[in-house]
Amino acid sequence: MRCKECNKDIGSYISNEHLYACCGLTLQEYALRHHQPLDLLLSTDQINLQDDISNYEKHNKPATQQVLNLLNGLYMANALLQEGEFTYVTLGIRRLEQLLWYQNVLQSIGFQYKQEYFYANDSHRVIARNALKIPTAFLPPRIVNHSDDSLLQQLAILIAHIGELHAGYLFIDFPQQKNAEQVAAELANNHQIRLKPLMVSENIDGQLMRCETLEDTSRLFTLLTKYLEDIPSACERFFVKHEEAQVSKELVFDSAHFITDHPDKCVNLHGGRYAMNVKVKDQIDPLTGFVVDYGYLKRIAKEKIVNQLDHHNLNYVSAELSWRSSTELLSIFIWERLIEYLPSLTELQIYETSQSHCCFKGPSLDELQKKGSSVLLNHFSSDDLGKSQLRNLLDQSIQRKFKVIG
Ligand SMILES: [Zn+2]
Repeated sequence: MRCKECNKDIGSYISNEHLYACCGLTLQEYALRHHQPLDLLLSTDQINLQDDISNYEKHNKPATQQVLNLLNGLYMANALLQEGEFTYVTLGIRRLEQLLWYQNVLQSIGFQYKQEYFYANDSHRVIARNALKIPTAFLPPRIVNHSDDSLLQQLAILIAHIGELHAGYLFIDFPQQKNAEQVAAELANNHQIRLKPLMVSENIDGQLMRCETLEDTSRLFTLLTKYLEDIPSACERFFVKHEEAQVSKELVFDSAHFITDHPDKCVNLHGGRYAMNVKVKDQIDPLTGFVVDYGYLKRIAKEKIVNQLDHHNLNYVSAELSWRSSTELLSIFIWERLIEYLPSLTELQIYETSQSHCCFKGPSLDELQKKGSSVLLNHFSSDDLGKSQLRNLLDQSIQRKFKVIG
């Protein structure tokens, strides 16, 4: 076999040792660059290898504050995983530089970078894992007390690892609710930055948080920029502009409704299959290749909307829809619920039948926060209802007794 980088004959199989010396690529990157499956590049004795703990050397120097901060950021991100006698951190190949940046700090306590290959039965192919590994027994005890500066460094690691920016709002899906509460309290008390808890986390014990406003996000980034700028993937993700794209997800739900005071047959209770097209427009994330994961889009739309409306009478779901659950008012109702989770929402389409649908573009989250919910939705839930002078006439009307005839 010839190495496609240096054109030298390298025997039957290619190895990371050759590639590191020849071009600085890992084998997985070489496979991607030359669009070949790993299965063809690796020999069977490079696959499913068991790592040997005796290759790791315990360092006796105490861990520096920078090491402890990095580890605590990774603990908060649930990024330190255990397997057998090892603890490891893994990131996809597109984030190799970030992993190597961690390694630059963590090698002082004995972490090693490994690209390992496994035959995945479910995928029917060889997949690679890029990981920093250490025997679990070598890990320093987890720190509990820390200064504000340490907390900010840990937060920068957490955000670089699992933070996402959507339409200028930072989202962090904390794997542990207690960490979310602690970070939110410290940011509120020390820096007047508000994190808003949202209802849908991907983790069972987790808590999804969003910087409440654009100003909160911007203040948090001002605090963290000096730490985030060091971390290669954070720079690409948060500080560089990329192309925008629009993605959409269609979901359906079955609902009944009627249109109060409608002059025609829509006054009758009737039902059907609604289709909802949720469109989101934002920058393409360089680390994922996505605007937003379709799975997230579906999860939010399902949990915040479909589960509330499916197999319900729309008029009784909420006061906003009780008078007229028209596609138009339904669109505003849905928009105001989704925009909290999808601030890059750009358009909603609601199909009541395949021939009748409504397109709606509502306010941005920033506009919604400043001006409040739509007045069109709030007539029957408004505190002003029943307060006008004319309501005196209602009182007078019941004082006139009916006359019994006959
Ligand atoms: Zn080569």
